[in-house]
Amino acid sequence: MIVLITGPSGAGKSTFVQSLMADDPRLAFSISTTTRPMREGEVDGRDYDFVDEATFKKLIAEDAFVEWAQVHDNYYATRRSRLDEMAAAGKIPLLDIDVQGGVNVIDIYDSELVSVFLFPPSWEELENRLRSRATDSDDVISTRLKNARTEVGFASRYQYWVVNDDLDQAVARMKAIILAESCRSTALGQSPLG
Ligand code: ADP
Ligand code: 5GP
Repeated sequence: MIVLITGPSGAGKSTFVQSLMADDPRLAFSISTTTRPMREGEVDGRDYDFVDEATFKKLIAEDAFVEWAQVHDNYYATRRSRLDEMAAAGKIPLLDIDVQGGVNVIDIYDSELVSVFLFPPSWEELENRLRSRATDSDDVISTRLKNARTEVGFASRYQYWVVNDDLDQAVARMKAIILAESCRSTALGQSPLG
């Protein structure tokens, strides 16, 4: 199983993913590669692999990425070697990626994938969350709000929709999705009776 989570910037994906992972040791966060400048509090190799544009382009040429996309003026990608390491460790990779990458991953992984679109409860709350995070300039916030309108247009490509209203309740709904998916006959692979 691979878990894909997409939602507009500010919907609460990072917060949601951290809370979800704290309770489920089977999940491993897929650390993306990005050219975005590091935010205060972020750690290279934990939140992202931060690289410059030349390095990013070199990695594209080397086919190091499963998918990559330009999002809000920066480049982001899922590195093949990161997914391979997680699979080898018997973990469930959890991808927090944008709609362009998400749609690519849906097409590549098909039935292995559990795809979830995370909605904010309202447009007003999305803007409040982007402003309350206090990590981005007004220009960056307005780009992200504009892009959010396009991004939700892709939500129908995702199997599950979760509204991140109350964090604990949203995480509980996500845990229910993972539980149900792990009971699928196709996820189990063979009969428990052998
Ligand atoms: P994303 O990763 O989707 O861009 P973040 O996780 O950075 O979003 O969250 C954006 C802001 O919203 C942060 O300040 C975070 O603390 C807040 N937030 C996240 N989830 C909730 C929630 N369920 N209720 C209220 N605030 C939230
Ligand atoms: P942020 O800059 O707020 O961390 O992330 C901005 C956007 O980039 C979010 O929508 C996030 O899901 C997306 N993103 C993060 N990593 C990847 C990735 O590896 N590939 C793609 N396509 N998008 C990503």
